[in-house]
Amino acid sequence: MEALKQKILKDGRALNEQVLLVDSFLNHQVDAKLMAQVGEEFARLFANQGITRIMTVESSGIAPAAMTALGMGLPLVIMKKSSSRILSDDTLQTQVHSFTKNSDYQLTVKRKYIHPGDRVLVIDDFLANGEAAFGAARLIEEAGATVAGIGIVIEKAFQPGGRRLAEAGYKVISLARVAKMAENHIEFCD
Ligand code: 5GP
Repeated sequence: MEALKQKILKDGRALNEQVLLVDSFLNHQVDAKLMAQVGEEFARLFANQGITRIMTVESSGIAPAAMTALGMGLPLVIMKKSSSRILSDDTLQTQVHSFTKNSDYQLTVKRKYIHPGDRVLVIDDFLANGEAAFGAARLIEEAGATVAGIGIVIEKAFQPGGRRLAEAGYKVISLARVAKMAENHIEFCD
């Protein structure tokens, strides 16, 4: 998605070879117009696949996921990051390792917001090692639903998440794929 790539080049900042900061337009301050375009693009790319629900992980996936839900006319469910285990039949939980915080959290969703037979589109802001996406997929599948696709705003293609998810059979579409980064330098895949 060209507008997104241009925005990343203009306002994104590679902190080092691993971490890209996009907090001026994606996950702290939000460029709502760009997010609306992101939502329209995901709606177009995942059209006609029988998707019934959009899911994301709080908090940085919420803006693009909300716009995708709007574009597709579907409900959005936000999976929560909890620090403790909840022992309740009403709740699904799985442990996920956070790339940015280098610590674990319990990804949590109430069963009433995901139904057996749902075809779920997972939307997230970044794909690095794939831990968040695999965690989301575990919860969706434990609920008896199917992961119909995974839409990523920015994939760091030099990290293994995209390959791992594809090998596990998930359909992953990323709007911008970063091939390489260094301090203040960003290169996209062709
Ligand atoms: P993964 O679970 O694929 O290893 O990492 C994805 C999650 O970590 C995303 O939900 C995102 O919040 C965070 N993340 C991973 N890499 C980056 C990055 O370079 N910049 C920012 N801002 N967040 C990242």
